[in-house]
Amino acid sequence: MIDSFAFTQAVLDTLKGHIAVLDQAGTIMAVNEAWRRFGQKNGLQTPDACLGVNYVAVCDQVVSEDDAVAHLVAAAIRGALAGHKDGARLEYSCHSPQKQRWFTVQISPVQINDQRYVVICHQNITRRKRAEIKLQESHTRFRHVYQNTAAQLQYQSILLQNVSDAIVATDQQFKVTHWNQAAETLYGWTAAEVLGRPVRDLLKTEYPHSTEEQVYQEFVTHGLWKGDVIQIRKDGVKRSIMSSVSAFKDEAGQLMGVVAANRDITEQKVAENALRQSEERFAKAFHFNPAALILTSLMDGRILDVNEAYTQLLGYQRAEVVGRSGLELNIITNPEERAEVTRRLRETGSVRNYETVVYHRAGKKHHVLASLEPMEVNGERCILSALYDITERKEAEALLEQTMAELRRSNHDLEQFAYVASHDLQEPLRAVAGMVQLLRQRYGGQLDDRADEYISHAVDAAARMQTLINDLLTFSRVSTKGQTFAPVSGEAILQDAINSLKVAIAESGALITHDPLPTFLGDARQLTQLLQNLISNALKFRGEAVPHIHIRAEESDGEASVAVQDNGIGIAPEYFERIFVIFQRLHTRREYPGTGIGLALCKKIVERHRGRIWVTSQPGMGSTFFFTIPTSQMSLEPGKGQSDAHF
Ligand code: ADP
Repeated sequence: MIDSFAFTQAVLDTLKGHIAVLDQAGTIMAVNEAWRRFGQKNGLQTPDACLGVNYVAVCDQVVSEDDAVAHLVAAAIRGALAGHKDGARLEYSCHSPQKQRWFTVQISPVQINDQRYVVICHQNITRRKRAEIKLQESHTRFRHVYQNTAAQLQYQSILLQNVSDAIVATDQQFKVTHWNQAAETLYGWTAAEVLGRPVRDLLKTEYPHSTEEQVYQEFVTHGLWKGDVIQIRKDGVKRSIMSSVSAFKDEAGQLMGVVAANRDITEQKVAENALRQSEERFAKAFHFNPAALILTSLMDGRILDVNEAYTQLLGYQRAEVVGRSGLELNIITNPEERAEVTRRLRETGSVRNYETVVYHRAGKKHHVLASLEPMEVNGERCILSALYDITERKEAEALLEQTMAELRRSNHDLEQFAYVASHDLQEPLRAVAGMVQLLRQRYGGQLDDRADEYISHAVDAAARMQTLINDLLTFSRVSTKGQTFAPVSGEAILQDAINSLKVAIAESGALITHDPLPTFLGDARQLTQLLQNLISNALKFRGEAVPHIHIRAEESDGEASVAVQDNGIGIAPEYFERIFVIFQRLHTRREYPGTGIGLALCKKIVERHRGRIWVTSQPGMGSTFFFTIPTSQMSLEPGKGQSDAHF
């Protein structure tokens, strides 16, 4: 029995639980080693000091707030001692200043030979409890996150199912857990097809503006990434996507998955690109344009932008003019003019080549041709104006006009002078010629030989001078006494010219032929004179052969090009210009008579008709004189041919 007790005691001592045996009265009869040690640790003097203590009473006395359990223990012990067969097992916590511990207390009734005992066993379950608490916490956390996430996702899924953005959620492995209606539409995959599949395999996301590494870094740091990506649809078509990806994490910061809201911006991108390209093109065309360009507000004329050419033209820096108006800066000075241009712009949509004046910063006036076009920039109604500086042209025009006026006046003066001189000189000259003639008749042969010679020279000189003055008069009359232009038959004037040269033609035995001639528009008398001079020269400057003169004409664009061709002595090329100058001759009067006015007169007549005259020839091979003469009003329009400002 003793051995058996000792054995039991030894076994009990090895157990970690604190075990005590109470007698019928609830007094501690025996304890194990663990109980003793616990007792000592908690203030008992000796290991056995606990023996004989009434444990029920101890429990009853416990008053600390957390020991409602002690009373339950007391009640359970009483129940057991009173004969209840079921024991009790209670759990309680025990706070010490250092730490909290947890225990269970097992109350087990024992009946031996009508004697009732109660075995009390306190067991430290702190470690287990802690583990349980952690587990519990973890569960709670999980549930919390899960419930939150689940509830949120459920809530969101209803919401997100209906949003236009494609919503794609994944788990930690980036496998699809959610795929809304818009995602089905955008990517062409149904939710059923993609759930559980890695999102990477499906969408093959490319990051055009950053590396995958950068995106990942930003995502890890901020839990959020926004940007444009390229993703592929089920049908293989790539789309531009604006993506916003958020991480969702548990409370411990563990990544639970990601949610992406994606929007197809392909069309928008295309439009944006087109817009950007067009804006770039406009900006380039604006800034590098050689014309001075200025963008102003339609409403108040405020300058919004100017280009380099504008700043150069008007001597301002861009920053000096932007935000101000041309009137304010004195670039333009007439407010009514601006109002008028704006009105025309509203009425007609645009204004082209409007001639106006702008002022340089230093005050210099610039004549410009302005073309204005309304346009919208950033929602504001604007006017784009292009200014072409025509100051130089204007000044040149003014100078030309002035020179022309002077030339016209001096030409007129000269013509008047030539006319008056030749006309008025005729009279005294006729008297001189008459007198020297008389002198010769009366005193010829009566004085000495020398006197006869002098008289003869005087008579010749007077006659030549008369011819020259007559020629000069004829020449000056081309413009002063010309007739108005009228249609005149080419055949008729040729016939008139030939008729007046009948004698010379007969003498030389010349053959004159011609092709059909058109109707000219001009002064009949002068045109006859023109042909007459050319034919007469062809007869005069004939070679050994019998003269053959051929006249032909070609008509185009309202003018005829007439050629008078001969088989005469020809002209060396170096004289092609000179022969048309008044009184210029290539021969002496003895070789060929003449004053050198014939071709100058031809030139003056042709130019009065706004035509040209020139020659082609080779010495000994004949010459061809060409001239152009209008056949219709068209070729008499301003700018055609030359003016008649020649003398
Ligand atoms: P002129 O006949 O009085 O000399 P023109 O002005 O008619 O004056 O002619 C100027 C010069 O041009 C002539 O002196 C002659 O040398 C040259 N010339 C004009 N017509 C012909 C021609 N048909 N053949 C060769 N030379 C010509």
